[in-house]
Formats: sequence, structure tokens, C-alpha cells
Amino acid sequence: MSQIRALPLNSIKGETRKMMEVASELHGLGFMPGTGGNISRLISPDPFLLQISASGIDKGKMSEASFITVDEDGQPLSGKLKPSAETLLHIAILRSTDAGSVIHTHSVNGTVLSEIYREKGYISITGYEMLKALSGNKTHECTEVIPVINNSQDMPFLHEIVMRELHDKTDTHAILLEGHGLYTWGADVFEAKRHTEAIEFLLEVIYRKMLISGKNEKMME
Ligand SMILES: [Zn+2]
Repeated sequence: MSQIRALPLNSIKGETRKMMEVASELHGLGFMPGTGGNISRLISPDPFLLQISASGIDKGKMSEASFITVDEDGQPLSGKLKPSAETLLHIAILRSTDAGSVIHTHSVNGTVLSEIYREKGYISITGYEMLKALSGNKTHECTEVIPVINNSQDMPFLHEIVMRELHDKTDTHAILLEGHGLYTWGADVFEAKRHTEAIEFLLEVIYRKMLISGKNEKMME
């Protein structure tokens, strides 16, 4: 708690405002409909403090009061708001990567492709200029692998699965939950937003190519 108290109040408000603006923009793009999706940022790694959108919030109508601070177990430190049910997944990602922010979307493209690729277990994307929007990628001639894992309402179980999935995968930028949505992360809120937009773009490209060809990868195998 000492580290959060040391932060100037305007700094905390500024970071909260960034998350509000980013969530609102992503909602406007159709990536966070029906109160779905969430956004978080790491306040402090030790002691672990996470600021995350509260449960049941319309991402197009957020205010500074729409966020909650939780500890390493996802327990709220104050207030009456409930943290998002998926807080434990944000914690798993922040613990397994160098990320400072996590964004979770419920897009149509991510939902459809997660079902098509679940059996394969991952989506592999190569050769697109947009791949350069992902940190560390210097050329379009690279391959981004997005793991696809089974959805579950058992969040402690999913927390363990995500930790295991990301173990030793330092070049991974996202994971997809089957029939559910995408988790993307970045060094800060703006990088997480850039990664979200880039990966959602790439998922839409794959989806549209399938529509044009009338085939999906499973059918072509
Ligand atoms: Zn979700």
C-alpha cells in the first residue's frame, strides 16, 4: 500500500482516465459489447496491486468510479464494487509476462475463430504488415502464434491454465478463450490498446478470407 500512497493523486487519475478512454474506444469498435470485456493496469508489482474495471460496467459509459483496486488474490482493497470475474486471468498474465496492462475483448471475429481453431490449439498468423504493430516484431515476415484454450467458469482453474500456457513464451502477445474472447497485453495501457487493435484486425482478415474462400482451415485439412 505504501507505493500507491506515494503516487501523486493526479497520476492515479491520469492513468484511470487513460483506461476509461481506451475502453470507450474499444467499445465503440464493437470489441466490448453488453458490458463484456475488461481492462486493467498494474499499479505495483510488489506489493501486487492491480486496477481493473469493475464487474457489469458498460464500457461505453465508464467513469473514474468504474474501477477497483485488487490485491494478488483478486480481492478488492476497498469500496463496494465487485471486481470483474476474470480478474484472476489478468493477474495470471501480469505474473507471467513483463506486461503493465491487460485488455480483454469479446469480439465476433475472436469468438468465431476461437471455435474453429480450438481443436488445433492455436492460430498462426504470418506475413501481414500489421504484425509490426506488435512489440518486438520488426518485419511482416514473422509468425505470431495465439494459443486457443478451452473456456471455463472456474477462474482459479483458468488462472493456472493461463500461467502454464504463457510459461517460457516470451514472444506471445495474446491468448484466445474458446467461444469467449481475446486477452492481449502490453507494457502500458496504450501499448495494450495497440496490440488489441492489431490482433483484432488480423483476426478479421483471417475471418474474411475464410468467408471469401468458403472454407476454414479445418475444412481444408
Ligand atoms: Zn470475458
